[in-house]
Amino acid sequence: IRLKARTDELAGQLRVEKAEAEAARRAAEAASRAKTQFFAAASHDLRQPLHAMSLYVEALQQRPHEPEVAALVQGVDASVRALDELFGELLDLTRLDSGGIEPRPRPLAMQPLFARLRLHFEPLAEHKRLVLRFHGAQHAAFADPVLVERVLHNLLGNAIRYTEHGGVLVACRRRGGRLLLQVWDTGVGIDAQHLPRVFDEFFQVRGMVPALQRRGLGLGLAIVRRLGVLIGSEVRVCSRPGRGSVFSLSLPLRQGAALPEQTEKV
Ligand code: ADP
Repeated sequence: IRLKARTDELAGQLRVEKAEAEAARRAAEAASRAKTQFFAAASHDLRQPLHAMSLYVEALQQRPHEPEVAALVQGVDASVRALDELFGELLDLTRLDSGGIEPRPRPLAMQPLFARLRLHFEPLAEHKRLVLRFHGAQHAAFADPVLVERVLHNLLGNAIRYTEHGGVLVACRRRGGRLLLQVWDTGVGIDAQHLPRVFDEFFQVRGMVPALQRRGLGLGLAIVRRLGVLIGSEVRVCSRPGRGSVFSLSLPLRQGAALPEQTEKV
C-alpha cells in the first residue's frame, strides 16, 4: 500500500511538472510572437519616414556638390539603405511566421540565379579582395526561385561579411536524387558551442567581427531557416573556427521528385 501511495505521489508530481513545462513552452511561444509582432509594427511605421529620407537623399545626389559633401551624402544614403534592409528583415520574419508566404515551386535553372548573385556580390567581394566562385551552374532544380534566391542571398552575404581572407564558393551538385546547394567560406568560422543557436532569432556571436562591420540584428539565418522549411529543406551548417564554414540545403530535381532529404553529414 505504501508503495502504491508513493507511485501515485510520483505520478502526480510528474503530471504537475509536465503541465508546468507545457505552460512555460506556451508562455515562451507567446512572448516570441509578441516580440515579432512588435518589431513588425515598429518596422512598418519606421519605414515610412525612411522612404521619405531616401527621396531627399536622391534629390541631394542629383545636385552638384563638393567632393566632401558628396561623400557625406553617400554615407547617409548607405545608412538609409542599411536601415531599410533591417526593417525589411523584421517584416519578412513576421510574414514567414504568420504563414503569409506561399511557395511556388517551378523549374529553376541555376545559371541565371548564379549570374544575378555574382552581379550583386562581386563588388563587395572585390572590395574585400576575396575570390568569389560559382560551381555547377549547369544544374537545375524544381523549387520556388524567389525563395531559393533569398536563401542564397542571405548565406552569400554572411559568407562575405564573415570572411577576411581567401574566398567564398557557391557550389551545387546532385546528391541522393536531389540538388545539393552549398555556400563555403574561408572566414572566421563559428565555435561549436554557438552552432546550435545560429539559426535562432536575434542570435549573434559577439566579438567575431569588429562592431562597425556588423550589420544585422541576427535575423538573417532565422529567416533562412524558415525559408528552408517552405522550400522543403533543412539548412545545415558545418564550421571550424578560424578555418571557415559551409551552409547547405538541398532541392528536389524535378516536379514530384520530393525524395526525402539525406541525413548524411556534409
Ligand atoms: P547577422 O545579421 O548577425 O549576420 P545572421 O542570423 O545572419 O545574423 O547570423 C547570426 C550569426 O551567425 C552572426 O552574427 C554570426 O556571428 C554567425 N554567422 C552567420 N554566418 C556566418 C558565417 N558564414 N561565418 C561565420 N559566422 C557566421
